[in-house]
Amino acid sequence: MTQAKSSPSSAATGRSAKSAPNRKKTPSVDNPGRVLKRSRYSKAEIYEIFQRFHADNPEPKGELNYVNAFTLLVAVVLSAQATDVGVNRATRHLFEIADTPEKMVALGEDRLREEIRTIGLYKNKAKNVILLSQQLIRDHGGDVPENREALENLAGVGRKTANVVLNIYFGHPTIAVDTHLFRLGNRLGLAPGKTPLDVEKAMEKTVPKEFALHAHHWLILHGRYICKARKPECRRCLIYDLCKSPEKEKFDAVPEIALRTRALVDKESAA
Ligand code: SF4
Repeated sequence: MTQAKSSPSSAATGRSAKSAPNRKKTPSVDNPGRVLKRSRYSKAEIYEIFQRFHADNPEPKGELNYVNAFTLLVAVVLSAQATDVGVNRATRHLFEIADTPEKMVALGEDRLREEIRTIGLYKNKAKNVILLSQQLIRDHGGDVPENREALENLAGVGRKTANVVLNIYFGHPTIAVDTHLFRLGNRLGLAPGKTPLDVEKAMEKTVPKEFALHAHHWLILHGRYICKARKPECRRCLIYDLCKSPEKEKFDAVPEIALRTRALVDKESAA
């Protein structure tokens, strides 16, 4: 992979992007002593990045299967350090027999282990799923709470899982930072940060409000299938000409997919 000698600019994209904002650093919300880096992009460039994701896939969907809030929560807990495909394979039968906290508790930890034994860390995950089911029955009448703090109090549920459930099921504009979002935030310089929480806070400031609901999905899909960890597939990248990553592969011409998506954005903007 060769590296780009310089970052693309509005001249490179042929666009009239606004100049980059003043590079003054700002303190983190959760740690006022810590300074967050700013995005490498101007507001206009960021807006166009998300316009392209939207034009390409207006209603992005997660890839975990679920039938209600409870099964989504369980699927997300099971997906830690596992692939969505692997989780879906294991939950196909599980959710037919246990799609509520009550049924999950009745199933029991031993039987649950058998159902999910193909997923990594299944013993610990089975324990957590039974525990969180008991907590839901005891503290929330068997419902999944629409509240970050209450979600994070459940066994096996951290900030990322809470954000996914709030976003996918309840429609909150939360941005769950998993390995893909953390990499993209830093690799592209879109929302740099040393920790997932730094990146989450930077993303919240960076992503235009109208795109916040789907930003998490677009970035996960982009990271999973295009801007991959070991070798980004820049030739298939719809934001190629906007990307300012030093890891960007250099080509003589902007890839067709980026030109096509840019034209689609122009057409939608003109309509
Ligand atoms: S795939 Fe390449 S061009 Fe696209 S965002 Fe990643 S590094 Fe940038």
